Amino acid sequence: MKKLIVGNWKLNPTNLAEAKKIQTKIRQKVTGLRNVKVVICPPTAYLSALSLGRSNSIFSLGAQEVFWKEAGPYTGQTSPLILKDLNVSFVIIGHSEQRDLGENDEQINLKLRVVLDYGLRPILCVGEKERDDSGYYLAQIKRQLEDGLEKVSKKMVKQLVIAYEPVWAIGQDQRKAETPTSFLQHALFIRKTLSSLFGPAEAQKIPILYGGSVTIKNAEGFLTQGQADGLLVGRESLIIPNFVALAKLANQIK
Ligand code: PEP
Repeated sequence: MKKLIVGNWKLNPTNLAEAKKIQTKIRQKVTGLRNVKVVICPPTAYLSALSLGRSNSIFSLGAQEVFWKEAGPYTGQTSPLILKDLNVSFVIIGHSEQRDLGENDEQINLKLRVVLDYGLRPILCVGEKERDDSGYYLAQIKRQLEDGLEKVSKKMVKQLVIAYEPVWAIGQDQRKAETPTSFLQHALFIRKTLSSLFGPAEAQKIPILYGGSVTIKNAEGFLTQGQADGLLVGRESLIIPNFVALAKLANQIK
């Protein structure tokens, strides 16, 4: 499967001209990469201006949010139909920064299911806030998966993407990121949980990304030793040469 390199721009940059510049440069430089899919997720307000017109096998647009209703009296929300109309292909759901603002697993599940219903690909973020030596935190990851994926049918599985983002590893110095070996262990745990939900064959089809202080210095470890199917990248995704280098690196790794 092609590696997925997803850039989560969060609330950056703060003007459209800069957003267009970053997108254009990244697109130009990843053209021709065969083994990787690059996704940028800009702030919602820029999606229309950055819309690609049609989907592309190398470069796609992702959203950072969605609402579970298509239309109606829901001030400030983003419809899945609007995302579809703008040729958005991926939607980040359950990011820890949204969970911190009060988003719960039930809402995450509603968002995830509506995204699946409209043929978009949800990137479901899971991860513990803290790690304890006894491994109790694993129950938290399991619950996030089980609740987030409730009532998802097997036939939708091919659209799913999971991002394992330990919350303590996000926004840190890269030396404080997860290690590739530990990522691999947690990805196996996630795969096992997915397997109990959808069966082993289906679970195998779901890409599991690593996210949390990925930089050009530590990315290779996650993609090789850690066997990550891709990366969810925050700050480094706004530094054009570094993000392009991440995509090229992923493109080389089989
Ligand atoms: C994120 O918030 O999804 C993230 C991975 O951020 P950073 O790479 O900046 O840690």
